[in-house]
Amino acid sequence: MKIGDYKLHSVQTGLFKLDGGAMFGVVPKNLWQKTNPSDDQNRIDMCTRALLLDSGKRKILVDTGIGYKLSDKINRIYDVDFSHYALEKSLAALNLKNEDITDVILTHLHFDHAGGSTYYDEEGKIKSAFPNAAYFVQKKQYEWALNPTERDRASFFPENYKPLQEFKMLNLIDGEHEFDKFITLLPVNGHTSHMQMVKVSDGENNTLLFTADLIPTAGHIPAPFIMGYDLFPLTTLEEKKKYLKEISENDWTVFFEHDPYNECVKVGLNERGFYIKDKFTLE
Ligand SMILES: [Zn+2]
Repeated sequence: MKIGDYKLHSVQTGLFKLDGGAMFGVVPKNLWQKTNPSDDQNRIDMCTRALLLDSGKRKILVDTGIGYKLSDKINRIYDVDFSHYALEKSLAALNLKNEDITDVILTHLHFDHAGGSTYYDEEGKIKSAFPNAAYFVQKKQYEWALNPTERDRASFFPENYKPLQEFKMLNLIDGEHEFDKFITLLPVNGHTSHMQMVKVSDGENNTLLFTADLIPTAGHIPAPFIMGYDLFPLTTLEEKKKYLKEISENDWTVFFEHDPYNECVKVGLNERGFYIKDKFTLE
């Protein structure tokens, strides 16, 4: 897919699993298991699919996956699996290396979105995974991540983002932001404070929305199907209704970060609510 100056590519960074109940909040299992079947530990299949925007000059990565710094114990809890996909492998398939990335837009700083931003070298020193990139995150998300609550602190690992600030590679964005002519960063607050979605649009009839954790999988298209992880679920509900209306009315493409089976969809609205009209991939 091409939008404006940018060619868009899906960059699979890995697979993992999360508790199905936590992923669907108050929705009963007999409803969500139709779209998202669970394993013997009640976990559903997830992926960490990043998005690459390539204008030739600029190579922008949206989110960086889980990365390789988690302990074996935590990797086991989430069944983190790089045997099918890894960020470097996916970039190599596009003839790119980490060094080629000019910008990294982080939707938020949960470990499954920002973990691949840094790594430990052979001497155990923390390094930026994209040495030539400027990183971007919402200022209020960064501040939240430095001081999360007991309810969400398990999702934040400071080694994923604090070093970037120390290296002076992190740019803190304040609110809705026109990143360039084709890219707009849209903050939403239901999942965590100031997560930013990435809207890529030619201003005419071609728009893609990287919804991050506002709509993590195709199973989350119905407005009330909201994750138990969300800090402010009623805010998520309002944000989903607002954006799903815009998505369906203007025929935007939704790009899923966490759905291993569905990359992109178009959304319709009928008397029963929002539904998937069409499924496809970027390539
Ligand atoms: Zn996530």
